[in-house]
Amino acid sequence: MEASVLQELKERLLYLKHEIMSRIKENTDKVNKIMIRGDEGDFSDAVYTKDILYDLLEKDRQHLREIEESLYSIEKGDYGRCRMCGKDIEIERMKAKPTAKYCIKCRAVVEGKR
Ligand SMILES: [Zn+2]
Repeated sequence: MEASVLQELKERLLYLKHEIMSRIKENTDKVNKIMIRGDEGDFSDAVYTKDILYDLLEKDRQHLREIEESLYSIEKGDYGRCRMCGKDIEIERMKAKPTAKYCIKCRAVVEGKR
């Protein structure tokens, strides 16, 4: 992968990481507030919101893990290489999804297994 493209993707990943981390913090604060408030009146509302927040937090944490894995791959020097076939992942795909771990072909195989 070209150094300039790699640098661009790394910056994007660092930006995403920063964004997700502040959102996780924000949503964690919201959950804590709901837990403390615990109003009887809108208890069901609070539970509903808490579930949504937990869901968002779980997705964000998963995404954060993927971003950290990608940043680690950059450090190791195997970023952008398919984990399955070992070939370089299409650059357009990496730009669209900087955390991609498989090329389009292998992705289809992985998804087919689910
Ligand atoms: Zn592949």
